[in-house]
Order: sequence, then structure tokens, then C-alpha cells
Amino acid sequence: MNPTNTSAKPDIRQLTQEELQNYFLSKNEPAFRAKQLYQWLWQKGSKDFSQMTNLSQNLRQQLSEDFTLQTLQLNLLQKSEDETIKCRFALHDHYMVEGVIIPTAERTTACVSSQVGCSLSCSFCATGKMKRMRNLAASEIFDQVISLNELSQKHFQKNLNNIVFMGMGEPLLNYNNTLLAIEKLTQPNALGMSPRRITVSTAGVAKMIYRLADDNPKVNLALSLHAANDAKRSEIMPINEQNNLESLREALQYFQNKNGRLLYFEYIMFKNFNDSLQDAKELVRFCRNFPCKVNLIEYNTVEGTGMHKSEEDALFAFQQYLQAKNITCTLRRSRGKDIDAACGQLANKN
Ligand code: SF4
Repeated sequence: MNPTNTSAKPDIRQLTQEELQNYFLSKNEPAFRAKQLYQWLWQKGSKDFSQMTNLSQNLRQQLSEDFTLQTLQLNLLQKSEDETIKCRFALHDHYMVEGVIIPTAERTTACVSSQVGCSLSCSFCATGKMKRMRNLAASEIFDQVISLNELSQKHFQKNLNNIVFMGMGEPLLNYNNTLLAIEKLTQPNALGMSPRRITVSTAGVAKMIYRLADDNPKVNLALSLHAANDAKRSEIMPINEQNNLESLREALQYFQNKNGRLLYFEYIMFKNFNDSLQDAKELVRFCRNFPCKVNLIEYNTVEGTGMHKSEEDALFAFQQYLQAKNITCTLRRSRGKDIDAACGQLANKN
């Protein structure tokens, strides 16, 4: 089916609270209606005007004539043998995105998408093999989290503890909508989640890291590093050609000076590519620039990439070397492999 915009009416969640106020005033309704409506839209996660029971029947009817309320629909849910849940969501224009819930004994983390597809074409990533079709609206990012939170309550009897922007897409290339979604998710009457429990993960867009530093929404920042050597990094992440390690170092130091938090470096371990002692030395050298933590990630083979996961011995030796050099690092075992929910595997497959 060709994705098309199904309605010429504006989506009500594209209006600011001030614009809502002006709308109500134009209908001879009091300005406080905007606050009531805003609460339904962004705090209670309402999916239909008919649910807004403190607005009159006539007003609800008027709203549905003037606006749409676009929400995403759960299209497919898959549960892994390790309890990881992958959800495919259908958007109003029939595009699909995926989100993942990763439960552990200590916490439940949601991994959300920021774009339909991705333009950055990292060679190891299934999403990178899809074209970028469009950015997600703030409301679509918000809805993913609200849906994943409801599913977490249903399947694990607990709310989400953490949100990571590590699903489909590059969040810093959908900057305004990502920040707006974060603002909505952290307001006290919605999920009320602390921004410190939200991690924005970037493939490394230096210019946007400066902007995030200046706006300082107080979230964590993770860099998908995967190689601390420009030649290797450019080989698997074309974005490194315009945003090399030196430019990223400067941007990240600027960010850290403003934000004051640890930086996270994601490092997927690829067999015979970035898992030698020399690679570990280069990583240590890069990490010395910042208070940081490294997440070493077990790779899940994505067909057609030619990349494979590191052998256990190489993983272990790499981790040992980092620890011996006092670099804090953890080894992330892959979750949800059997349902293609693991890192780099999100691609709208069944
Ligand atoms: S790893 Fe991230 S930035 Fe790279 S192609 Fe995949 S989704 Fe895009």
C-alpha cells in the first residue's frame, strides 16, 4: 500500500497550548479549555475525542470535525524466549516502526524509534538498509513510549524505568520532535520520567551534539562508536567521513561541560574487525578524554552485512584490557535475538 496522508485535517497534537487557546477563544470557549484538552492529549494519553468527558458533547464533536487525533496502532507483538518484547506499530500513513521492551531483574527499558528507516546506512544495521522515509512526529514518539509502558505493566507488572532512543533512525536528525517528545514524557503529569532516565543515542552528528548541549534537556548521551579509529569507523559508518573522531571528541567535551553527566559509548564487537588488542588500545585512548562508560555489545548477525559477532575469547580479552586500564565497561549480551529485536536488527520484519 502506498503510504498517504489519510486526512487533510490537522493533527491536534501539532498545536501548542497557546494555539489551542486561540482555537477555543475563536469558538467563544474559555481559554482554560486548552489546559483541559492538553491534559487529555499529553498527560492522559487519550486516543479519541470521545474520551474527553470534561468537554461538552458539542465541543468534542466540533473538535473531531476540525482535527484528527492521530495515534499509532500496535500491529504485531513478538515475545522472545528471554522475555524481550518487540512491537511493530502502524502509523497513520501506514508506515511501520518498531519499539522494544527489555526487562531485567533490576529495570525495564524501552528502546524507541525516532524515524521511519534511517539515512545513515551503517553497514552492520538492518534499519540502515531501509531508506529514511520520514521523521516521526513528537506525538508518535510519545505514543510509542506510552504503549510500551502499558505493555510493560501488562506483561511485567511494572512501569518502564528507562527510555533509550536506539531504535530505528537517528534521533539528532529528528531533533525538534525528539526534544518535544522528551519534554512531554518528562512533564510531571504524564509519565513524569526523569530526563536522567532517558538516553539519546547518536551515530555522531557533531553539529547537533553542540545544539543538544546548549538546549540541555538533561538527558544522557550515548555515542555509537564501534571503532576508535577513523578509517575503520568510516568503513562501517559513513557519517564518520563528515564527523570524524576529532570533531566528535570536541563536541562531546562541549556537551559534557554543559551537561555534567557521564557519556556512554556503545561498541558493538565485530569479529576480526574491531576486537583486537590494538582496537582496545585505541578505544582506551579515545575514552581518556571524558568521564565515560563503555557498553560492549554482542553483535547479532544481520544478513548481507558480512559482519559477524566476536568470539568469546576476543570479547573477554577486550573487556579485561579496558578494565585493566580503569575504563568502566559492561558487556551487553544480546537480547531478543530470536525475534530480530536486538541491536541493529530492527527492520519491520515478521
Ligand atoms: S545504526 Fe542507527 S544510525 Fe546507523 S543506520 Fe542503523 S539506525 Fe541508522
